This record gives sequence, structure tokens and C-alpha cells, in this order.
Amino acid sequence: MAVEGVPAFDAIESYDELIAWSRAYARKARREWLLDVRLDLVEWSVSTRARRRAAAVKRQRIPDATVGKPIDWGRVPESDGRPLPCTISLTWEAFESFSGDEWKSTLRHELLHVEQFQRDGTTDHGPAFERRAREVETDVRCRTFATPEWLFRCSECGSEVARRYRECPFVREYEAYRSECCGAALVRSRPG
Ligand SMILES: [Zn+2]
Ligand SMILES: [Zn+2]
Repeated sequence: MAVEGVPAFDAIESYDELIAWSRAYARKARREWLLDVRLDLVEWSVSTRARRRAAAVKRQRIPDATVGKPIDWGRVPESDGRPLPCTISLTWEAFESFSGDEWKSTLRHELLHVEQFQRDGTTDHGPAFERRAREVETDVRCRTFATPEWLFRCSECGSEVARRYRECPFVREYEAYRSECCGAALVRSRPG
């Protein structure tokens, strides 16, 4: 995906770059998979909290909204007639552990939640979601992530110093680093 101002997936180094890449993909996916989403009403954020979910859609709870029953946004007090804005929250650690294709699939999953929310005022993983997930070739369940490719421990006390999900300078040059706890060399392992 070569878009001006958007880095290649493997060159993403900052939260802003991850958002820029993900936004650009969302625009492309919207056309390519005919997603009925208004991206101007979507905000983006990056979460660094250690969570098992790769991404999530944060949205307001709207009383009496039901999946499969289009909502009249004009009746929602906080709305000006358009769907209320929602936020796609991306988990940095998940991005680090996923391939580009896995990340795209994760984004399509979240965009389906946005599609449901903007139409019905709520979203879930029920039969309607399952159908759409099959159509856009993504998982029905929110993707989780767990096992890092590389684990680094302090050679002195054994405590975990770092984890990395793919090859990066730190993985190659870890011998140049010392642990903060004991100032000792690091031991590298592959838990997978
Ligand atoms: Zn989900
Ligand atoms: Zn130590």
C-alpha cells in the first residue's frame, strides 16, 4: 500500500504512524469490501495497556438500541442527526505481534463493529456480525495476541526485561544492553 505520507507496515515506529497506516487502510477497505461506514465519524487512538484484545471500538451506550434494527439518530439526544462518533482503539503490542495481513483483518473486524454501530446504534458478535465477517474475510471473534517471538531476561535474577514480537534492532543487538535490575547481561529465548 503506497500512499503518500503513510509508512510501509514494517516501517511503522510511532503511534501516529500506526494510526496513519490504519486510517489509510480503512479508506481502502471501505471501497474494496463495500463497508458501509462513515470514516469522518471515526476517531483513532493507540492503547499501550497490556490487553489481550488487538483492537476495540469505543462507543457510547445507547439505550434500547438493537442489532438488526436501524436506529433513528435524530432521536438520540446527543446526536445532530448523524451517527455519534466512535473510536477505534488499537493495541500497540498487538500491532507488534501481527503480520500486515493479520493487522488488516483486525481492522476489518473493527470496521464491521463501526458499521453496525453507525446503522443500529449498537454492535455485538451475533449472527449478523458473523455473516458480515464471512463476507469481508475476517474473524468473528476479536483477535487476541499472546506469545511474543522473543523474550529477554536478566541473566542475574531471571526477571523479564523485554519482549519483542518480531525481528528488530533490539533483537539483534540485545547483547549491548544491560538489565536495569542488576546491570547484568540479558538472556534471549524464544517462548513460542
Ligand atoms: Zn469484535
Ligand atoms: Zn536482575
